[in-house]
Amino acid sequence: MLIIKPKYRNFITLSSVSIISLGVYILFYGWLLKQKLADPSITGHLPMAIDAAVCFIFIGIALMLGLYSQNKVLCALAYVFPGLALICSCLSLSEDLALISLPFAFGMAPHTAMSFIFLSVTLFLIKSPSKKIIAQWLLHIVSLTTCIVIIGHWLKVPEFYHFSFTPMSIYAAIGFLLISVAGSFVNYTLGITGLFTGKLIGNLMARRLFFSMLIAILFAGYIRLLMHRKGIIGVEFGIALLSVSFCLISLVLIWVVSNILNKAHEKVSQANENLAIMVQAAPYALLISDVKGTIIEVNSRTESLFGYKSEELVGKSVSMMVPENLRDVWMERRTAFFSNPVVSTYGYDDELTAVTKNGSKIPVEIILTPIHTDKGIRILSFVVDITARKANEETIKRQVTELQQKNQELEQFNYISSHDLQEPLRTVSNYINLLEEDYPEQIRGEVKDHLQSINNAVTRMLKLVRSLLEFGKLGQNRKMSRINSQIIVEEVLADLKGIIIANNATVTIKGELPILYAYETELRQLFQNLINNAIKFRKKDVPPIITIESKSIAGYYKFLVTDNGIGIDNQYTDKIFNIFQRLNKCEDYEGHGIGLANCKKIAEMHGGKIWVESKPGTGSIFKFTILKFKA
Ligand code: ADP
Repeated sequence: MLIIKPKYRNFITLSSVSIISLGVYILFYGWLLKQKLADPSITGHLPMAIDAAVCFIFIGIALMLGLYSQNKVLCALAYVFPGLALICSCLSLSEDLALISLPFAFGMAPHTAMSFIFLSVTLFLIKSPSKKIIAQWLLHIVSLTTCIVIIGHWLKVPEFYHFSFTPMSIYAAIGFLLISVAGSFVNYTLGITGLFTGKLIGNLMARRLFFSMLIAILFAGYIRLLMHRKGIIGVEFGIALLSVSFCLISLVLIWVVSNILNKAHEKVSQANENLAIMVQAAPYALLISDVKGTIIEVNSRTESLFGYKSEELVGKSVSMMVPENLRDVWMERRTAFFSNPVVSTYGYDDELTAVTKNGSKIPVEIILTPIHTDKGIRILSFVVDITARKANEETIKRQVTELQQKNQELEQFNYISSHDLQEPLRTVSNYINLLEEDYPEQIRGEVKDHLQSINNAVTRMLKLVRSLLEFGKLGQNRKMSRINSQIIVEEVLADLKGIIIANNATVTIKGELPILYAYETELRQLFQNLINNAIKFRKKDVPPIITIESKSIAGYYKFLVTDNGIGIDNQYTDKIFNIFQRLNKCEDYEGHGIGLANCKKIAEMHGGKIWVESKPGTGSIFKFTILKFKA
């Protein structure tokens, strides 16, 4: 099967069907029933021979088979039919030239037979890579000669269609013109057809000019002949008139085509100018080089980056910008690039340096883009100076290390101070107890109350110090694992069963919670704190209703814990995540103000954040995100 553009395939199919129909029509209606088209007494035209009609059918079928057949038998038939047409036309021509004598006479004209011979040979050669150009020119010869025949019939000039013993009929000529033009679209880039189908400016001009010129000249010739035949003008005046009309026609057409060409040229120059401006103004060094690495063009940024003038670079090898120690690596990369020329980036993950005119080395990132031109592959290289980026990266690295150190120191300080603070606090508490036990007589009334208050404060401080210690320890020795958050939440709810029942709370998990990579203990604590708070900060006389759900958003899992509790004033929604920040009195709601600080630390450990949306008296929605970690 031939691979051709759909629009050309349709044209060839239509033309093949048309000549098969013409052949069948001539065969049955014209010759067998002696009607219309082929009957000269009705049409006033020469009839088409029956053998010519049969050959047209053969040629049409052969072209269709060549276009569509996929199995071997049909492909072979695509050669049998032109073979039959070739035999018929050769016999007919030999008979016409009296080379052989047959018991029956072929009816087709010698010119018709020659055209069939050309067409048949064409169909044998049309797919051959080396001979298809011959096939194309044979088709053009058929088109040209039959065109002359059609013009001859139209202008009633027998010399044009009767240049052998028997004249070619106009029907045969139309059939030949149609099929030879259609056939030439099989190899549409070759010969005269290529002139009309190409995309270049010359092809555009050929398309515009040819048909208008053809019509105008034929029309002028027709008018001149008509006037001459009617005796309106003489020979000399006629020829002069024709010459003048040709001049005028040429002038008008040249004018039209020149305007088209000028406009196209303007667009191309504008595009070139814009391109040149863009290339020169680009913030990167741009170089175009050939396969050997010879520099063809550079922009001004290349000059300023490398310190060379463009004339010092053009014509030289790109290797002059590559440090000596990297030249082997550079050669290897070039070879790899040309074995698979696709856009490639170098220097992003690895260290790449270029050398300037004064010998200094600069860190660079290079993007190579292959450009396919008529002169072979060219490489467009974008060279980006990443000195500033490298410096920033270094600064960031240093700052991260410093921060990590500071963080460690802080954690250590927190741990030591909270750990050491516990001891004196416990001592104070013990001595109060001892005092109460040893001096029961003296410690009474107001003194006893004061000591009780001191004891309460010390106990509370102990709890705060312990919370601080816990906060500091959070995430130590952490290890991420694949966990099912649904199971985690169900286990938390089982642990909190006592307070859920005591508070008559309803806790629902909406939908299925995801399986994710997280720090299990910490995530469990996060859910526990939020659910615990949702129950704790309930409205008096209103049973808590709590829902837990999750959503998958770009790059994160988002969890929502919704309650119908007392809610939080807008001005405190950030503050509550700070350590020891509480909004309610201890008598109303017990706690130390560390739970949400822990939650914040845990969410951040997971690459996410936590926040609350709330309305006092209505309830709160605590939301947090967890990064979708990969295994
Ligand atoms: P604690 O619960 O020990 O007070 P948290 O850090 O857990 O400490 O909470 C800080 C403050 O945020 C609480 O004291 C409370 O005022 C407010 N809060 C936390 N959760 C809720 C909630 N679900 N509804 C209303 N207020 C809340």
